Amino acid sequence: MSSLAPYACDPARSLGRRHAETPAPTRTEYQRDRDRIVHSTAFRRLVYKTQVFLNHEGDLFRTRLTHSLEVAQLGRSIARSLRINEDLVEAISLAHDLGHTPFGHAGQDALNGCVAEHGGFEHNLQSLRVVDKLEERYPQYDGLNLTFETREGVLKHCSRRNAQLLEESEPGGVGARFLRKEQPSLEAQLCNLADEISYNAHDIDDGVRSGLITLAQLRDVPLFDQFRAAAQAEHPDLGRAPLQRRLLYEAIRRMLSAQVYDVIDATQAALSRHAPADVQAVRRAPPLVMFGDVMRERSLQLKQFLFKNLYRHPRVMDTTARAQEVVRDLFAAYLESPHEMNAGFAEQAASADGGPVRARAVADFIAGMTDRFAAREHERLTGRRLFD
Ligand code: MG
Repeated sequence: MSSLAPYACDPARSLGRRHAETPAPTRTEYQRDRDRIVHSTAFRRLVYKTQVFLNHEGDLFRTRLTHSLEVAQLGRSIARSLRINEDLVEAISLAHDLGHTPFGHAGQDALNGCVAEHGGFEHNLQSLRVVDKLEERYPQYDGLNLTFETREGVLKHCSRRNAQLLEESEPGGVGARFLRKEQPSLEAQLCNLADEISYNAHDIDDGVRSGLITLAQLRDVPLFDQFRAAAQAEHPDLGRAPLQRRLLYEAIRRMLSAQVYDVIDATQAALSRHAPADVQAVRRAPPLVMFGDVMRERSLQLKQFLFKNLYRHPRVMDTTARAQEVVRDLFAAYLESPHEMNAGFAEQAASADGGPVRARAVADFIAGMTDRFAAREHERLTGRRLFD
């Protein structure tokens, strides 16, 4: 990887793993992280977890798995241009949503409410818990024993309280930057932005295909509509109803490219201004991976449009309410009868004398569920079927 920029994460200078391991003969440390993530149980479950649309609503909608792959694709593509570490970007992208509950944000909000008095539930922190603790794949330790840099990227946000708790158990570890108000590596910063670019684009696609939003409504969104108009001007046929899907894809394709080039330009300019000598200097600098001012504003408009018209659409809200009911009922049922959970969680909950440990074991068990497993468990434990 001699083409890496000095401010990129270099696997040879990784801050290392929590449990020392001998290097692999042919793979870098970040390639190993990526491979461990792909082979994990939590990664396979992403295919049956909701992004916006419930998994069973249609076979073509994004799931957390396809979303994660799209983030990795965008991230790698930008990383190569910036000469930062593609393997690390891929590892972080593929792991970034591992901690998501079933039923998307609805599930997370409900679970957060259930454990509010025991520290709450944050999906970023849960993603870290998955790779640090909940994956059971190695004889000598819990978790996947990933490098500091991948774990740093996975913990995208963290409350001050949780950062302090992390700092107590791992001084100077991945919680420290939230207390010092520092940034993560460029690779981690890039994954955040690639996540946003990715879901803004694919939620337009899924939203239009589901019929919940229309191309006409999207006329109010300049970021999208400029490319829709340009594509239609070049290919007037695309205005005809049978070809509207191609118009949608062409507009999204152009919008994605424009955002990718914008990030590359704005970030290269920021890197020239700050000239960080290495990744430590990156961490002390302000955020450097960014949109330009105009694109940032337009991306925000798109986000606000999706929030109002898609995420708060009555049909989405209806499933949101049922999903929250499932999560809350499951939480109450397992808290009351921990033996109904899988053995490892049941054992942990039963061995705990106090409420917080038991509540956390129940939250971990529910967070790991796929949408359909949660719905089935709910029916088994309550006798009520909320999802077909
Ligand atoms: Mg995401």
